[in-house]
Amino acid sequence: MSKSFDIIIVGAGIVGAACAAECARGGLRVLVLDRGPIGNGTTGAGMGHIVVMDDSEAQFALTSYSRSLWRQLVPELPVQVEFDPCGTLWVAADDEEMAEVERKQKYYSERGVTVEALDGAAVAEAEPNLRPGMAGGLCVPDDAVLYPPCAARFLLDRACEHGAELRTTTSVHDLLPSGGVTLTDGSRVAGGIVLSATGPWSPSLLPGLPVRKRKGHLVITDRYPGFVHHQIVELGYLKSAHSVNQDSVAFNIQPRKNGQMLIGSSRQFDAEDTSVDQPILDRMLQRAIGYLPALASLSAIRVWTGHRAATPDKLPLIGPIPDSDRIWLATGHEGLGITTSLATGRLVADLLLNRACEIPPDPYSPKRYISGAEMYE
Ligand SMILES: Cc1cc2nc3c(=O)[nH]c(=O)nc-3n(C[C@H](O)[C@H](O)[C@H](O)COP(=O)(O)OP(=O)(O)OC[C@H]3O[C@@H](n4cnc5c(N)ncnc54)[C@H](O)[C@@H]3O)c2cc1C
Repeated sequence: MSKSFDIIIVGAGIVGAACAAECARGGLRVLVLDRGPIGNGTTGAGMGHIVVMDDSEAQFALTSYSRSLWRQLVPELPVQVEFDPCGTLWVAADDEEMAEVERKQKYYSERGVTVEALDGAAVAEAEPNLRPGMAGGLCVPDDAVLYPPCAARFLLDRACEHGAELRTTTSVHDLLPSGGVTLTDGSRVAGGIVLSATGPWSPSLLPGLPVRKRKGHLVITDRYPGFVHHQIVELGYLKSAHSVNQDSVAFNIQPRKNGQMLIGSSRQFDAEDTSVDQPILDRMLQRAIGYLPALASLSAIRVWTGHRAATPDKLPLIGPIPDSDRIWLATGHEGLGITTSLATGRLVADLLLNRACEIPPDPYSPKRYISGAEMYE
């Protein structure tokens, strides 16, 4: 006899994993399908910075809510998740960027996020390997970093403890408006609701979805414990991450618990292949060396790329699609899906189970973009 599921989640990245954990904990019968292994997509390529961001009120609400959920989970996280409460240090190179420190300090403080503004001397003391002469910076001590594929594995283990079933190497061909899926081998799996958590591949299953692939490069170094102490991000990052269509690079470095460092990052549209783009990589590393001159003498051991799932307003798509209460989305998390996965999972479960949501879900509703007709063109 075939088993029936309340919800079929397509995608075992961090977002699908978080949705599975919350739905299973809420008593739903959950099936998770992925064509590869766990964390096979962008989750395995991302940086794992848990960070509060403020491009918009809705982005702030989602990132700060999700960061608080990560912090509540800390006592339960296994060591493999490598949770490190190292904080973020936003560095300002000049007076223009110091104005951003002041704006950000005010914005975060007014909303209850702990921050500390630093002058140039305090920045140099906090991170002695930064080039001399920084104007200042902003420390966000409750931000953190973790290792995303192991975090996804942990969340899926949680889901399975609550009765969820996980099937990897299972490729979905179609989402059915009646709630189930067809697999690429032609078989069908029945379910009440199907949730697509397929990240940058979501338009393959729902053509017309406003999700574009935005390529990023990352470099990992050999082990240099203590070379940096925070996730350090240039405030110029905000200018480049905001530029919607141009290729951009920005200095962003993350300490790993084992002493390795991840160096990012780049952003490119219309670059769907996974190959390393040497000119962009050179620009990205030069930018990093500009901030941390001693990096030039350290060894990098690997470089890779991944694709973020970008939406036009830089907010994810969470909830049912228009004209179907059987097909749901949890996608479009761009460069913040590790941070916002837990809030996404909680919102999906709250909406499905008719529970009150802790933050308003409407800003993330797919209904803001999509008419049913467009989805199925
Ligand atoms: C360079 C880079 C740095 C980043 N840094 C950070 C960071 O510091 N902090 C942060 O919060 N975020 C960061 N991100 C973003 C973050 O990695 C993503 O937002 C997040 O991983 C998205 O997770 P997801 O589960 O939605 O998608 P994915 O991890 O891509 O998962 C989608 C899954 O769907 C599966 N799938 C797709 N189609 C099908 C199908 N037809 N059938 C079955 N399975 C299918 C795939 O195999 C995949 O496993 C970064 C991203 C990049 C590229």
